[in-house]
Amino acid sequence: MAIQLPKLYKACVYDQPGQISTKVVDLEMPEPGTGEVLVNLTHSGVCHSDLSVMMNSWPALPRPTQQNQVGGHEGVGLVVKFGPGEVPSFIKLGDRVGIKWVNWICGSCFACLDGHDGFCSSQKISGYYTPGTFQQYVVAPANYLTPIPKDLPSDLAAPMLCAGVTAYSALKKSGARSGDWVVMMGAGGGSRHLGHLACQIASRSMGMHVIGIDSHEKKDFVLASA
Ligand SMILES: [Zn+2]
Ligand SMILES: [Zn+2]
Repeated sequence: MAIQLPKLYKACVYDQPGQISTKVVDLEMPEPGTGEVLVNLTHSGVCHSDLSVMMNSWPALPRPTQQNQVGGHEGVGLVVKFGPGEVPSFIKLGDRVGIKWVNWICGSCFACLDGHDGFCSSQKISGYYTPGTFQQYVVAPANYLTPIPKDLPSDLAAPMLCAGVTAYSALKKSGARSGDWVVMMGAGGGSRHLGHLACQIASRSMGMHVIGIDSHEKKDFVLASA
């Protein structure tokens, strides 16, 4: 049964890129294209990278942020509509899914084939190249969504889609295995608050032993994380 969708919905845009300024506007409901889905977002994290995009201060992004860009790249919501064509079998209508900083990759360049999605030369960044997750509905590529486990609440899942992915990816690429020791610089946070997530993922999920390095006032927090 098709889900009834409104014609207009709310989005938060950068109305004056280069300055700290946002505006809530009404947008027309987008139509998912081939290989895409429409997601009804319920949660979005807010990341320091969003601030950088708003302020045109992210050095790796080539051009100033366009006016009325919808920001955000840590979104969780429900799949409410499929575009035409085949969709991956792991996604069904009503599933809870996540949208990340890397919104889309080509899947065929050297970096993609080597498993380095973050270096795809054609990658699209959510909330910069595509309308992001600071809105009620977003179109996203079906094959690049992240299914959210049933028991993980959406508010906890949202930051995992950026800070969590980054910390996990670094641990995976380090080559360290269960039972190995890892040294975590900035274990209590670091510049983008990833350290404590890396401690938790390393010790609780990957079975590693953690040596945390940070300033002394963060000692208790780091020990509680690991
Ligand atoms: Zn982020
Ligand atoms: Zn690629």
